[in-house]
Amino acid sequence: MPESAEEVYARVVATVGEGGRLPMPQVETWDVFPWEVVDGALVPRVLRPPEEQEPARVGAGGRDCFNCAGDGSAIRVWENDRWKVTHPAKPGGLPLVLWLASKEHLDFPDMDDALAAEYGRISTRLCRIVERLPHIGRVHVCRWGDGSEHLHVWFIARTARLTQIMGSMAVEWEQMLPPVPEEVWRADIRTVAAKLANHDGWALV
Ligand SMILES: [Zn+2]
Repeated sequence: MPESAEEVYARVVATVGEGGRLPMPQVETWDVFPWEVVDGALVPRVLRPPEEQEPARVGAGGRDCFNCAGDGSAIRVWENDRWKVTHPAKPGGLPLVLWLASKEHLDFPDMDDALAAEYGRISTRLCRIVERLPHIGRVHVCRWGDGSEHLHVWFIARTARLTQIMGSMAVEWEQMLPPVPEEVWRADIRTVAAKLANHDGWALV
């Protein structure tokens, strides 16, 4: 079962002490980080002029696609004939991060009506299953698609009642919070895979 807010908080206090700050991620080095510190104040970055074209995405056109190749960065926990659910190699700071991806190399808008309907059913079930785990406040369902072309959707669970860890900023906390204990994380992944397989497909863990 996922940790309660009190358990997460206790782990943070054990890591940095009461009132302590978690280590700063290197956000200021990120090209997409929208703010910077100037004269001691946090201010918006100056918007650069447009590029000539969009940057190439990883796996563009199905070439050198790590998602098709299975490079170990996404580990399969459930599948049916057309879809797979994977998790990162290691736990992060939030209770669960899972990806739902097509087996075929497609971009999100490439789904035909049948595949889109199946995507809708599986994504709803996956969101429902994870949100009904104890101590989960919400599952954010996100398709960014700016990094890798291969159709993949993020399912990002946040802990209930930690009210700073809300909305899109939950993704930034994921990188700051100390990682969830591996045995808790793996047990929750097994639970989700088994519950998904009650509807369709096969649990692989
Ligand atoms: Zn691919």
